[in-house]
Amino acid sequence: MKQHTLRNTYTFSGKGLHSGKKVTMTVGPAADNTGIVFHRVDLGEEAIVPALAKYVHKTDRSTSLKKGKTEVRTTEHLLAALVGLGVDNASVCLDNKEVPILDGSSQPYADAILADGLQEQESEREYFVVEKEVEYTDPESGSSIKVLPFDGTEYEVKIDFNSKVIGIQCAIWNSSVIFARDLAPARTFCFLKEVKPLLALGLIKGGDLSNALVIDEPKGYYGEAVPRFDNECARHKLLDLMGDLALIGKPLKGRVVAYKPGHKINSKFAALLAAV
Ligand SMILES: [Zn+2]
Repeated sequence: MKQHTLRNTYTFSGKGLHSGKKVTMTVGPAADNTGIVFHRVDLGEEAIVPALAKYVHKTDRSTSLKKGKTEVRTTEHLLAALVGLGVDNASVCLDNKEVPILDGSSQPYADAILADGLQEQESEREYFVVEKEVEYTDPESGSSIKVLPFDGTEYEVKIDFNSKVIGIQCAIWNSSVIFARDLAPARTFCFLKEVKPLLALGLIKGGDLSNALVIDEPKGYYGEAVPRFDNECARHKLLDLMGDLALIGKPLKGRVVAYKPGHKINSKFAALLAAV
């Protein structure tokens, strides 16, 4: 399989979920073997941070990358779209510090990119091939992620928030799943009881009902929101996992099994694999 990049440059404008700041972002083609690179155009020519686990800076409710003084926040939904569509090389330019949240999913990226299809490149794709089982469990949260050898790529997620509204949910990504249709539309979610504490922490300043599902436990979805899938929350956690494991820097060939994944364990696991 050859490497792929985008055929065009796509512009997305909106606000950051956590910073609430307005941002314009372009996502466009990049040369063979570049990987995915973020460029903060508001900070100058040199303000670049590659999408690699060694640059993970913060993981509180989103994944932030930082290299030197260059920080890019909430990278996961864009990275999930690029990985999910099979993009190896892309250049992402932002004029502020946070990727726009848009509708809280990866769908706007998938729709834009797929409208033109991908551009095949000269170089062969290099995979991160899982050769032996690796497992990591977070003793505090009980979350765990493991990878196993597998002839293909498969991600499996199980979530349990002890919630009457969403229950226990599972989601899967493999060659039988159509990313743009089955996973990309799944939106960010949070629980209504978390909103005030998160705001007090300086987070979700850009959050509203147009970019997140809010769960009013035990009643239902706040504001009579209608989920896009019965298991939208698990599908979204799968997107987050795909976006965070993109930070390994190569497409993964193997099977990933995650229980109650989150940005902290996801990015720790990406760093663990990247160091193998
Ligand atoms: Zn997310």
